Amino acid sequence: MVIPTLSIVKGSYSVDTDAQNKQVNKTIDSLNADKQALLELSNKLHSTLDLNTLITLFKLDVSPILNLDDVYYQASDHNEAFDVKGRHMVSYQLVLQKKDLGEIALIRRTRFSNKEQKFIEKILVALLSPLNNALDYQQAMSLALHDPLTGIFNRFAMDSMVSREIELSHRNNTPLSMIALDVDYFKKVNDTYGHAFGDCVLKHLTKCVKECTRTSDAMFRYGGEEFNLLLNNTELSGAQELAERIRKHIEETPCTCDDQNINITVSLGISILNDNDTQASFFKRADDALYQAKETGRNKVIYQDS
Ligand code: GH3
Ligand code: MG
Ligand code: MG
Repeated sequence: MVIPTLSIVKGSYSVDTDAQNKQVNKTIDSLNADKQALLELSNKLHSTLDLNTLITLFKLDVSPILNLDDVYYQASDHNEAFDVKGRHMVSYQLVLQKKDLGEIALIRRTRFSNKEQKFIEKILVALLSPLNNALDYQQAMSLALHDPLTGIFNRFAMDSMVSREIELSHRNNTPLSMIALDVDYFKKVNDTYGHAFGDCVLKHLTKCVKECTRTSDAMFRYGGEEFNLLLNNTELSGAQELAERIRKHIEETPCTCDDQNINITVSLGISILNDNDTQASFFKRADDALYQAKETGRNKVIYQDS
């Protein structure tokens, strides 16, 4: 059997026992004896693979017992200080089979007694395995939704995000734009410099586009050297302005790969969501516009009206 390990308390504040704290200790005494309650907590935590839901479930269960103000969790790739603001905190590095599962902090206005800390360590053991499952699930989902070469969303992610954004746009009556983008004569780049060089060019292109966009603009690699941008709250003028900015930025920014510099250009097509659009028709207009941009000379932006 694998024994989960917990680190020791990282920090707790000064002594300050009050009546409220004694009350809390009483609850803990009874819970400590109640293995059934711990089993129930463990079962409850195992009911979800969603990280936020898991931490919320844990918080909802444990907060009333310990009179907590807050429970903070951060995964191992984050290293921010928890916002304690003069309150008392116990924080634990969570480790399962040598795998770092991140850090959890329990925060309240009164000091945590030794007895309480022992209790916390006991219930944290119930969190380890579900947390490990949730982190694995989150990682698998992230892999499924992202393109490994460029790190941006893939076509699968695009399908579900476009569908959600169309719904929101119709419901809230806000504009939604799409830009389809394709590298000009990319086959020639591959043929001249090799496939690895071509891969490097695609990463460069992704960086250039990101330098032009807002964080709310989602970028997808639709396939090969074709990309899509989904711009919420953006009407035609905004989409045209952005597409032109991207086109110009890529044209003017040399791409350096393997100590060689080349310049690439892209063609772009724009569509604006209309009331009768389906996901397919919205996408098709952007794609048709892109095709027109190719047909009429490349390195340009075309808008396809409904
Ligand atoms: P156009 O201006 O009409 O778009 O011409 P093009 O040469 O860019 O278009 P075409 O569709 O003929 O060629 C696309 C090329 O992109 C062919 C394919 O080998 C290459 N490609 C697709 N995916 C990748 C990839 O992941 N890495 C690299 N290096 N090349 C890729
Ligand atoms: Mg191309
Ligand atoms: Mg193409």
